[in-house]
Amino acid sequence: NRQILLVEKPSGKLGPEHFKMVDGAMPEPKDGEALLRVRYISLDAANRAWMHGATYRSAVEANSVMAGGAIAEVISSKAPELAPGDIVFGDTGWQEFAAVPAKHLTKMPKLEPMTHLLSVFGIAGLTAYFGLLEVGKPREGATVVVSAAAGSVGSIVGQIAKIKGCRVIGIAGGADKCSWLTSELGFDAAVDYKDGAVFKALRAAAPKGIDVYFDNVGGDILEACLPQMNNYGRIACCGAISQYDGTPSAHGPRGVPGLIVVKRLVMQGFIVMDYMKESPRALADLQAWVKSGKLKVQEDIIDGLANTPKALIGLLAGENRGKRMIRL
Ligand code: NDP
Repeated sequence: NRQILLVEKPSGKLGPEHFKMVDGAMPEPKDGEALLRVRYISLDAANRAWMHGATYRSAVEANSVMAGGAIAEVISSKAPELAPGDIVFGDTGWQEFAAVPAKHLTKMPKLEPMTHLLSVFGIAGLTAYFGLLEVGKPREGATVVVSAAAGSVGSIVGQIAKIKGCRVIGIAGGADKCSWLTSELGFDAAVDYKDGAVFKALRAAAPKGIDVYFDNVGGDILEACLPQMNNYGRIACCGAISQYDGTPSAHGPRGVPGLIVVKRLVMQGFIVMDYMKESPRALADLQAWVKSGKLKVQEDIIDGLANTPKALIGLLAGENRGKRMIRL
């Protein structure tokens, strides 16, 4: 059972030296557990945030198998609700095989391609759906801005906002990603935050101001959006990737809470897990949009467990377009 251990928690930027691949023991499932063969490991910006300490889940610890969500196949089961051949989602960690309590696993439908269970029909799709529609609550015709727009969550947020009749502006790193957003995904405009002043470029792209900002990054980009929010606007705080890797910035965003008061903004954080009971209706919509071609699915699949650390480091550096995952 090949495994990737987090050997040390990074104090600065995450690097390959923080991980080690080992040959571990084959796990033995106990009562209530299933033995799983991992098929696809999800790479998430949050993997890095978990290294800072406890968040909505416990912190990952040094010298243990690196935590991470995955799609896996049940090999054998000591839990009545799971049988060999079932496909599940759960935190298996970065390894080939895992024994996991059935109560911590979600049984998934058998659909092709299976990778969609991690992207559009998985956490990324549900985060985009509930974060935009239940937290951001855009009205038809609203101006919606989304950051990390070419990533897995952001690329779906922008497309759902278009489906709902909004004007959509994506913020992403690099000209290639920006032209992909407008030419392939139907965004109305895109701002390359690596190419100079975000504030000015946003002003040009959203001359009527921003009604809903879906924030994946926090930091300077949030600071650039705040003064451009319209009165009674909403900010859906999904994540703060600019603060995850390395030493978090000591600054801002400035203008908080002043601008929140003056503009009567609602700024709300959310965790997708809180919406899981409502996932059937979200999945029905997402499936219909994918089937009709209104929602394009972008996946970035890398082969081999050994590449998992490099793939996470690359995701934090913006290498990925759409949902990045490892195929075992
Ligand atoms: P993505 O696929 O979006 O990949 C991360 C992207 O972030 C990179 O491709 C990079 O693109 C961009 N990025 C990296 N550093 C910065 C920076 N300093 N400033 C701006 N952009 C940056 O990853 P995920 O889909 O895993 O995560 C997206 C966000 O969603 C994260 O904040 C994550 O924590 C959050 N999330 C929240 C959930 C919830 O329940 N609240 C659930 C799931 C995810 P670029 O080239 O554009 O820089």
